[in-house]
Amino acid sequence: MPKTLLALNWKMNKTPTEARSWAEELKEKYAPVEGVELAVMAPALDLSTLSANLPAGVAFGGQDVSEHDSGAYTGEISAAMLKDAGATYVVVGHSERRDYHGETDAQVAAKAQQAQKNGLVPIVCVGEGLDVREKGEHVPFTLKQLAGSLKGVGADVVVAYEPVWAIGTGKTATADDAEEIAAAIREALEKQYGEKAAEIRVLYGGSVKPDNIAEICGKPNVNGALVGGASLKVPDVLGMNDAL
Ligand code: 13P
Repeated sequence: MPKTLLALNWKMNKTPTEARSWAEELKEKYAPVEGVELAVMAPALDLSTLSANLPAGVAFGGQDVSEHDSGAYTGEISAAMLKDAGATYVVVGHSERRDYHGETDAQVAAKAQQAQKNGLVPIVCVGEGLDVREKGEHVPFTLKQLAGSLKGVGADVVVAYEPVWAIGTGKTATADDAEEIAAAIREALEKQYGEKAAEIRVLYGGSVKPDNIAEICGKPNVNGALVGGASLKVPDVLGMNDAL
């Protein structure tokens, strides 16, 4: 069984000064939980302060990465830069990138490949919108998105299922909803990766908090969570970590 992954996604929050205070507070109060890995996905500008101030054993990563190696791509961040800054992970294909920046499955796959080429573990996000869920097409929709986003991507990957209607809305999928999709994702991973699929973490994301994380992550195919809002305050993070 792989370790449970509690992955925090700060999104566009926290200046380097705020990131430093957060990391110092975490260092003061954090106690590792056996079988649980904690990782912080932060804005690129915060990574050097996280590298210097996080407690030992807490990993960090970026929220997006360029699909290109280097060169004339103004504003982009390369996988080599993230790796050199000490990152372990990078989120790719978050629904906010897909919706606001038009990222396609093919681009997401190229970003994930680029991450792996540079020794980073991509956290590949998939998940349906409300219209798809209401039509009952969430499983085929998500699996199609997954297939496109994992094309040519190796097994050293994390998959995050985040239904768009549950992100930042306070509406959480039930633990059974999360398990339904996680089980379908696992089956698809088995087809693509064979035995290695058992080691791939499938996370749930969408309004996860200290009081619902245990039930969701207690499901057999859910190996952790990707958390937005509740990642910003250290007491909430400790509450989630301790609940796992
Ligand atoms: P919330 O936890 O704020 O719903 O965000 C989920 C998310 O998008 C994590 O990537």
